[in-house]
Amino acid sequence: MRYYSTRTKSITGSFAKAVLSGLAEDGGLFVPEEIPSYRPAALSSLGKMNFHDIAYETILPYVKGEIPEAALRDIITSAYTFDAPVVTVGGRYVLELFHGPTAAFKDFGARFMARTFAYLRRGETRPLKILVATSGDTGGAVADGFFGVEGISVTVLYPQGRVSPLQERQIAGLGGNTRAVAVKGSFDDCQRLVKEAFAALKKRVDISSANSINIARLIPQAIYYTSSSASVRKSAEDLPVFSVPSGNFGNLTAGLYAQKMGAPIKRFIAATNINKTFPEYLESGVYKARESQATLSNAMDVGSPSNFERMNSHWTHKEMRELMLSTFVTDDDTKKTISGVHKTCGYFLDPHGAVGWKAADYFEKSEALGDVVILETAHPAKFSETVEPITGAVPMPESLAGVMRRAVHSDVIPVDIDALISLL
Ligand SMILES: *Cc1c(COP(=O)(O)O)cnc(C)c1O
Repeated sequence: MRYYSTRTKSITGSFAKAVLSGLAEDGGLFVPEEIPSYRPAALSSLGKMNFHDIAYETILPYVKGEIPEAALRDIITSAYTFDAPVVTVGGRYVLELFHGPTAAFKDFGARFMARTFAYLRRGETRPLKILVATSGDTGGAVADGFFGVEGISVTVLYPQGRVSPLQERQIAGLGGNTRAVAVKGSFDDCQRLVKEAFAALKKRVDISSANSINIARLIPQAIYYTSSSASVRKSAEDLPVFSVPSGNFGNLTAGLYAQKMGAPIKRFIAATNINKTFPEYLESGVYKARESQATLSNAMDVGSPSNFERMNSHWTHKEMRELMLSTFVTDDDTKKTISGVHKTCGYFLDPHGAVGWKAADYFEKSEALGDVVILETAHPAKFSETVEPITGAVPMPESLAGVMRRAVHSDVIPVDIDALISLL
C-alpha cells in the first residue's frame, strides 16, 4: 500500500515511511492511496472470528509486502492482551474500549504503533528516543505502549501538578525504558520544549514522536468497529449506527475506514462537547477552527480536529453528510446523562461516553436509527472526580488499582531547553 500526504498528492511513501516519519514533509497527514476492502472470505465469516483474527484481517492490506504475515500476527498477539466487549445497557449497545492497561481506547492505537515501530526498525543498532508532551491521557498510553519494547526509549513531558494522580502514575510509574519529566509550566510549555529538543537533537540521535496523527495509531482503531458491528448485526438490512465521542476525530476516521472496508455499519454519529467545529462544518459546509474550551470530557477539548484533514481528503462535504450525523453536548447534559443512565440502568458512563449517549438521544427523535452502539472510550473510574459526585463510588478495575499503587519517579525541570537536553 502506498500512502500520500493530505496536502500534496505527489508526496508519497511506503507504510514504513508513513509510520516512521509521522507527518509528511509538507506538514500533511499520511492517508492510504485507497481504503482497501476485506477479503471476501473474511467478510463472510466476520461474525465467527475472534478479536485477533479480525485485527489481522483489518491491518493486513495496509502493511502487505512490508510486514510479513507471521510478524503481523506476533504484533497483534502481543499488543492485544485484552479485547473490546459489547454490553447491553437500556436497549442500546455499549462498546467498552477501556479494558486495556491505561483504561482508555488509546491503548488500541499506542500498543500497535509501538510494536510496529520496533518491527520496522529491526536490525537498527542506534537506539530510538521517543519524545512526547502530554496534557494527561496520551502520555500514559504511549508510555505503556512502548514499555519493554526493545531498542526504543520513551520520554514523556507533562505539566507538573496539572495532571490527575492516576494519570501521573500512568506516566511516571513504569520505569524501565520509560522516563517522565515534570515541567514547571503548562502543557503548551511542554509542547514547545519537545519541538525545541527535536530541532536541537535531530542530527545527533535517532529521535521521533509518537504523535496521535501517526497512521499506525489510526488503522488498528478500525478493528473494534468491525468486531462489534459483526457481533450486533441482526440481518443484512438491519445495520447498527455508531455514536462516537470525538475530539481529534482519529477514532471516528478509523470507523469510516472500517465501514469502507466492508464492516456492517449503517452510519455514524459524530458527538462532540461544546468544541463544536465539526458539527458546525457538517451543517454549513464551512470549516472554522476555534480556540478550544475546557469541558468535563477533556480528552475531547479540541477546537481544530487534526483528522479533519484526513476525512476531507477522502470524502466531500456531501458524502460526509451521508456518512455522519453530528451534534454537540453541553457539560450540563453530560452530567444529566451520567445520572440518568446510572439511575435507570445501574451503568456508570464516563463523561466522554456520556456525550456519545446524549447525542444518540438527540437523533433518536428525528431519525430511524435502529440499533445504536455507543463507544465508551474510557473507564468511568478514570474520571471519578466528575462521576462520583453524581453516582456515588465507582468500582475501580484491578488494572487501575494497580496503577494507583505505583511510586512516581520523575525528573523535575524548569521551562528551559538546556535542562531538558542535559537530561536526554
Ligand atoms: C482521546 C480521547 C477521545 C477523543 O478521541 P479522538 O480520536 O481524538 O476523537 C475520546 N475519549 C477519550 C477518553 C479519549 O482519551
